[in-house]
Amino acid sequence: MKLIAANWKSNPDTAKTAERLALAEDYEGVIIIPPFQYLERVRSVLKHASLGAQNVFWENGGPFTGEVSPSQLKNLSVSFVIAGHSEGLQVILCVGEPIQIRKDGIRSAKDFITNQIRYDLRGVKRSDAKKVIITYEPIWAISTSQNAEPDIPEEAAEICAYIKNLVNVRGVIYGGSVNAKNAKEFLGRDDIDGALVGGESLKPKEFQKIVSAATPLV
Ligand code: PEP
Repeated sequence: MKLIAANWKSNPDTAKTAERLALAEDYEGVIIIPPFQYLERVRSVLKHASLGAQNVFWENGGPFTGEVSPSQLKNLSVSFVIAGHSEGLQVILCVGEPIQIRKDGIRSAKDFITNQIRYDLRGVKRSDAKKVIITYEPIWAISTSQNAEPDIPEEAAEICAYIKNLVNVRGVIYGGSVNAKNAKEFLGRDDIDGALVGGESLKPKEFQKIVSAATPLV
């Protein structure tokens, strides 16, 4: 089954809208990742999707102004977290190269990503690394980057396959301007285990089409 992560970033503006959006995106295989302040409200309406957080601090409690701890997230039934290493939470680790590197070719992108993954997973036990989901997210392909364009699906799949050979993780998904039109091209590839969706996860109709490109909706 493919995983579709809905990264709402700093949206929407109200808890009521967050609740409506969560209800419209509540499918099996989906991870809804709202801003912290809506976690509880979103959790209360989800029946099928899992809940994720956009960040986490590495300490459980203490004098850390503005930080959110792993145990606080677990107590809110959060299962996934986009960044950080954390006991009991499944990490979605984002890696990806800047445009200057990719312009030098796919080999340079692979080298860049190898260094990122080695650095990010240093000190992480193999048994813990197996629970990590890596998102291959070329920076230049993220919709908020200047002149963003999605990666070529074939090349994104090649890099996802490369990452799987490099580390034994739970899965490797693609992120970067995924939308209803291109979703099938990414999600239809065996080497891509799912998608991290930013902008289009704020549009329920488009998001539903992305989900159905992964699993036909009943
Ligand atoms: C993201 O939020 O990480 C992302 C990939 O955004 P978008 O789908 O809008 O490019």
